Amino acid sequence: MREGTTGHTFLVLGAGLSGLSCGIGLLEAGHDVTILEKEQSAGGLCRSFRANGFTFDYGPHFLFGPGIKTALKENIVPSFDIPLINRNGERILARDRLFKFPFEPKNILKHMEKTRMLPVLIDLVASHSFRKAVPASNLEEWIINAVGNKIYDYICLSDYVKKLYGLSPREVSPKWGEQKLKFLSRWRNNSLLVMALNALKEDKKLQKQIVSYPPSGIDAIPGKLAERYAELGGKIIFSSPVAAIRERHDCVEVTGLNNRTFSAEYLISSIPLTELLNNTSSGSDKINSGLIMQLRHRKTVFFLLYFNAPRVMNYQCIYFTQPDYLFRRVTEFRNLSSSMSPAGKSSLCVEVTCNEKEVIDTSLDKVHALLKQLDKSGHFNIKDFSHYDILDVPNTYPVYTVDYMDVIKKALDCLKSYKRIISFGRQGLFFYNTMNNSIMQGYALGQSFGSKHDFSCIKDDHYNNHAALLN
Ligand SMILES: Cc1cc2nc3c(=O)[nH]c(=O)nc-3n(C[C@H](O)[C@H](O)[C@H](O)COP(=O)(O)OP(=O)(O)OC[C@H]3O[C@@H](n4cnc5c(N)ncnc54)[C@H](O)[C@@H]3O)c2cc1C
Repeated sequence: MREGTTGHTFLVLGAGLSGLSCGIGLLEAGHDVTILEKEQSAGGLCRSFRANGFTFDYGPHFLFGPGIKTALKENIVPSFDIPLINRNGERILARDRLFKFPFEPKNILKHMEKTRMLPVLIDLVASHSFRKAVPASNLEEWIINAVGNKIYDYICLSDYVKKLYGLSPREVSPKWGEQKLKFLSRWRNNSLLVMALNALKEDKKLQKQIVSYPPSGIDAIPGKLAERYAELGGKIIFSSPVAAIRERHDCVEVTGLNNRTFSAEYLISSIPLTELLNNTSSGSDKINSGLIMQLRHRKTVFFLLYFNAPRVMNYQCIYFTQPDYLFRRVTEFRNLSSSMSPAGKSSLCVEVTCNEKEVIDTSLDKVHALLKQLDKSGHFNIKDFSHYDILDVPNTYPVYTVDYMDVIKKALDCLKSYKRIISFGRQGLFFYNTMNNSIMQGYALGQSFGSKHDFSCIKDDHYNNHAALLN
C-alpha cells in the first residue's frame, strides 16, 4: 500500500479503457492500484498503430452520444476535449450499390432497382401487420421481424453476419441484434405510420449523425486516461501477461512473466473471461472447461494499405455484406481526420474477421487479391498503392451463439464463488461494450469502493446488474 493511503490494495488486469478508468475510480476513492498489462502500451482494443506519419485505429472507433464528452471532462479527465465530427460518410455496399449506414427504409428504397421496390414495400407492410408477438429466438428472426424478408435478403445481412461470426444468423442470439443493430430497433418497434413520418425526417437525421472523434487517432482517449491515472499515482506494469491467479483467504496472488509474482487484497480483471477462468484457482473450486470452450471470440486481421495519393475513396468507411468480397469493412482514416496520414498520402484499413486460431494468408499475393476486389467494386482508386502492414488483433468480437446467455449466466455463477476477484469490461463480461460503456462502467466500479468497502456486496451487485442486462 502507498504511504499515507488508508484504502486497500488492488491489482487490475488489463490497461484497456475499462482497466484504466477503473484504476482512476479506485485511486480517487483512496486505494492503491497496480495494473498488469500484457502488451507494451495501454488502450487494448482502443489503440492506434503508427508508422511513418500514418495512423491507423484498430478499426473505426467513434464515441457515441453527447453525454460521454461531458462525463469524461467533468468527472474523469478534466483537461480533455474531443472535437465532434460528422459521421455522414459511412456506407454499406450490397448488390453492388451503396446505401447510407446506419441504413434507413427511405434510403434503401431510393437506391434500389425500381423493379424491386413494390415487392419490398408489400413485404415490409406484411411483416409489420403480421409480426408475431413472440420474441425472436435467433438473429435472423429478429432482423426479419424488423425489416421483413425482402430487405434482409436484399442487403445480404445474412452474409454479413457470416463474415463477422462464421455462423449463420440462425445460430446467433437475437441479443446481438439488440446491442449491435440498435438502429433496426426503430423499425421493429415503430408502427408503419411512425416509420413513414420518420422517413420524411430521415435526411435531416442522417445529417445529424454527429459523433466524437479525437483528430490525432482514437488512442488519444486511453492516452488521456493513462495520464490521469499516472497523475493520481497509479502504476502500470507493461509486458506482463498474467499466467496464474490464486485466491487466498486474505489476498490474491498473480504470477506473470518469468514467474514474477504480485499480490494485493483484491483483483479486478478486464482480461478475457475465458483466460481468467482458465488461470484461476482457489484451491477448492473446479472450473468447468466445457463451459469455457463455449465462450468463443473472433479475431480481426487488419490489412493496412499505404497509398501515394491524397484520397482513395469518397467515404469514411464502407461495410461489405456480399460474400464474394473477402473483407467485411474498409476505412480511409484520412477522411475522418487529415492528420491520420502525411500530406499527399492516404491509407486504407481492410478488415477480415476469422476464428481465433485461424491462420489467414497475409502475403503480397493476398493483398493484390484484396486490391483487385476493391478496384472491381468501383469505389476505390488503388493505382498508387505502395506497401502494406498487418495487424492481427485477438478477441475483437465475442460470439453470441443462441445459447450464449445460459452459458454466460453459468460463468457468472462460477465467478461469484471468488471472494476477492471481480471480472468486468468488454472481454471480462463477454459483452458487446462500447467505449462509453467501458469507460463509465469501469470508473463507476472503481468509485463504488469509495462509499462502500464491502467487496462481496459490490461484487454481487455487479454480477446481478449484468445478469439483469441479459434478460
Ligand atoms: C474493430 C472494433 C471497432 C470498434 N468500434 C467502436 C466504436 O466505433 N465505438 C465504440 O464505442 N466502441 C467500439 N468498439 C468497442 C471498444 O473498442 C471496446 O468497448 C473497448 O475498447 C473495450 O475496452 P476494455 O478495456 O473493456 O477491453 P480491452 O480493450 O480488450 O482491454 C483488455 C486489456 O487486457 C489486456 N490483456 C488481455 N489478456 C491479458 C493477460 N493475460 N494479462 C494481462 N493483460 C491482458 C489486453 O491487452 C487489453 O489491453 C470497437 C471494437 C472493435 C474490436
